[in-house]
This record gives sequence, C-alpha cells and structure tokens, in this order.
Amino acid sequence: MRKVISYTLVFVLVFSFGTLGLTYAGSSAQNKLDDVNDQLSSVKSQLHEGKKLENSLNKEIQNLEGKINASQAEIDSLNGNIAATQNKITEALAQLDQLEKNMDVQNNNLNGRLRTMYKNGSAGFIDVLLGSTSVTDLMTNLDRVQRIYDSDKQLMEQLQEEHNLIDAQKKNLLNLQSQLVASKEEAAQKKEDLTENQSAVADKKAQVASNNDALEDMEQSFLAEANRLKAEILASQSTGTTYKGGTMQWPAPGVTKITSPFGYRIHPILKVKKLHTGVDIGAPSGTTIVAANAGTVIKAGWNNSYGNMIMIDHGGGIVTLYAHNSSLLVKAGDVVSRGQAISKSGSTGQSTGPHLHFEVRVNGNYVDPQSGWI
Ligand SMILES: [Zn+2]
Repeated sequence: MRKVISYTLVFVLVFSFGTLGLTYAGSSAQNKLDDVNDQLSSVKSQLHEGKKLENSLNKEIQNLEGKINASQAEIDSLNGNIAATQNKITEALAQLDQLEKNMDVQNNNLNGRLRTMYKNGSAGFIDVLLGSTSVTDLMTNLDRVQRIYDSDKQLMEQLQEEHNLIDAQKKNLLNLQSQLVASKEEAAQKKEDLTENQSAVADKKAQVASNNDALEDMEQSFLAEANRLKAEILASQSTGTTYKGGTMQWPAPGVTKITSPFGYRIHPILKVKKLHTGVDIGAPSGTTIVAANAGTVIKAGWNNSYGNMIMIDHGGGIVTLYAHNSSLLVKAGDVVSRGQAISKSGSTGQSTGPHLHFEVRVNGNYVDPQSGWI
C-alpha cells in the first residue's frame, strides 16, 4: 500500500515537473503553487508516518537483538552445565571402573581363600583341630579362619554397595545430561527463529527507510518548486504596483465572531501543531463574502485544503485569500472593488463547519490579519 502511494507520488512529481517548462500567468502560477503545496503536505504526512514506522521497526529489531542475546546466554550457560555434567559422568565412570577392578581383586581373594579351604577340606580342619594344643586353642584357630573369611566377604559387600551407589549417580547424571542437551536444542531453535524474525524485520525496515529517503527527496523537490513558484508570483505582482488600500474592509459583513485567530494551534482535522495561516470568522453558510480591498482576482476555484477559494492581488505584494466558500461569484482575472461581493460562505475543503477562513499574505508570507489589516 505504502509503495503504491509513493509510486503515485513519483508519478505526480514527474507529471508536475513535466509541465514546468511552461510560463504561467499570475493566476496559473498560484494554482500551481497550491497544487505543489498540497503535494508537499501529502509527502510530509507520508514521511511523518514513514519515520514513525521506521522508528518502531528499529525498536523491534533492538528488542529482538536483546532476546537473541538472552537465548545465546542461555545456550552458553547450558553448554557450561553440559560440560560440567560430562566431567561428573567421566569421573563416575572412572570410579566405577576402579571399583570393578577392586571387586575383581577382592573376588579373587575370596575365591582363593575358599578354594584353599575347600582343597584342604576336612584334613585342613583336622590339622587345625589336631594342631591345637587345647580346646581353647582350637576354638581360637577356628575363629581366626572364620573372621578372615567374614572380613573378606564384608569388604566385598561394601564394594558392591559403593558400586551400586555410583552406578545410580551415573544414571542420574546421564538423565540430567539428556535433559540439558534437549534444553540446549530448544534454546538453539528459539535463537534461530528469533534471528530469522529479526532479519525479516530488518528487510522491512530497509524497505521503509529507502521509501523514506525517496519521500525526503520528493519533499526537497516540492519545496524547491514551491519557492520557485512563490518567487515567480511575487515577480509578477510587484511590477510597479504599491498597496494603496490602508485598513481593509471586514470581509464578512454582519458577522463579528472570530472562531479561531491566526497563530500556532492544534489542527482540528490533522491533530498536529500547525500554523493557522489566517483568521476563522464564524459566518453561517450562505453569508455574502466581500473583497477586503480593491484588486485583481488571481484564483477562483477548488483546492483540497481551502475548498472553493478566492485569492485577490491588491498590489504591492499584498494578497488576500477567502476559503471554504459554498459558491464563488467572481473568476480569475476579474477586477474587483473594495466591498464587492465575491462569494457565499460555506464549509468546503478541510473544514469542520461553515466559516470564512481569511488570510492576508505580504510578499508571500502569512501575516496576522488582525494586526491592523482588518
Ligand atoms: Zn482557518
């Protein structure tokens, strides 16, 4: 949509430049200036929106950057945990290995002793018995054999118990490790999604930024063209004429209410702070509007902002403008006298209700009509 609008503007721009070779009479230069100013204000408002969009996309990119960094930190932290867990697993495996060796040794000891005892059989037992000097000695000898065997067996059981414990720890560690790896994969996927998202937003931002650049170029061209036309209008106005009118005639006889004075205000339709370039006089629809002074009509026609409007050149660089009329009673080129009816008031163009918007321009600059003009 944005693209379509800017292409339309490019077309308008090219079209308007395409006709620049023509020389204008005063009134057609004024029409041209009004058109250029309309286009300029359209470009400005598009540029305003474009810059807002660009800023919000920039913020989104930064926001995604933060999230990507957070994902990377999470991945780093998980990598640390995975490495630490891997160390613990390696350690547990080494311990298990060592324990298994010890158990083999102990098992051999035990088997060896059992084998010896078995091989000696009852003879061994009788030897012990016969070798004993007394019943007490015999009991002592038997007890010694038994204790050695018990001690071997107990040691073996301890080793087995320790092995079971470490094996359980190892299983827990492996379990933890697979959870950590799964979490890491999830974080990596999240980071990838965020990165893709960020790159899409960055593409969009680049598009908007280049569109804004084009709008800025257009703004400059329109400004230059507007200045050129203003100079042209001034040149055509100021040839040998001087303003002789003195204080002007009130342009809406019978209506005294000023609903909005000249100066900076929040625009009632655009909702942005803008110079109100004239005074609004609360004339009901159909009120007769008169020329504030004698002069030549340089524009009588339609403008998107001013609606049905009239501009009168009074000489000496003084121009008055009457906007939002319901109907026009004069045409460009007409010579009008002070107080002559020129239009009926209304609410055409950018207007919130019936009124006369009255402007005084001196050498192309807006001045406050209430500063001694009316
Ligand atoms: Zn106004």
